[in-house]
Amino acid sequence: MNIKNNINNFCQNLPSGCKLIAVSKTKPIEKIQEAYYAGQRSFGENKVQELVPKHQALPKDIEWHMIGHLQSNKVKYIAPFVTLIHSVDSVRLLEEINKQGISVNRIIPCLLQVHIAEEETKFGFSEDEVLNLLRVADFKKLQNITIIGLMGMATLTENSNQIRKEFKGLKLFFEKIKSSPLPSGVEMKELSMGMSSDYKIAVAEGSTMIRVGTAIFGERNNA
Ligand SMILES: *Cc1c(COP(=O)(O)O)cnc(C)c1O
Repeated sequence: MNIKNNINNFCQNLPSGCKLIAVSKTKPIEKIQEAYYAGQRSFGENKVQELVPKHQALPKDIEWHMIGHLQSNKVKYIAPFVTLIHSVDSVRLLEEINKQGISVNRIIPCLLQVHIAEEETKFGFSEDEVLNLLRVADFKKLQNITIIGLMGMATLTENSNQIRKEFKGLKLFFEKIKSSPLPSGVEMKELSMGMSSDYKIAVAEGSTMIRVGTAIFGERNNA
């Protein structure tokens, strides 16, 4: 894998409204540095215990994105520096992020993860749960988080029609929320969808952030 070439190719081919999050999970510091020297500044990790030491070891102008399932009791370790949490999948987690945001005096940007795939195992809210959350959550008490959009993962399938349908559905839902009255502290700016196998479809369907690991760093052997 030529990481530098891969980063350059993505930079040249992505539309200006879409940002590349380089998913560096399981990859060593040196590989992240290679991407960094190629100009990449946004990286995604799915485990707190990997994210924290990588943040410590690497340049401080890196933006770290938490993209994996996050346990409430681990929020405190990333609250001081995390740029965006893509994987908020419960109100309890949102409240904990807010609490930790207060303690480090930061407003922490979050995306609500929406379950769009067929598989039952993937985390996330249903559309109804998102609408309900936006209706009933006490955003006056949630001053130290801001919800800036949605994240979704399509079904792992070869069937590109199905993937397209799922991304299209999420985009439609995103636009629907965006055009409705929103509580303060909530805006619909970012739509995080697309991974190595399906980012082209995601970009065509309106993704603003793609989370790409394998296509940049190569296969993971211990994922
Ligand atoms: C691992 C991971 C990715 C990237 O997957 P690739 O197929 O390697 O591009 C994207 N999003 C999430 C949530 C992940 O856990």
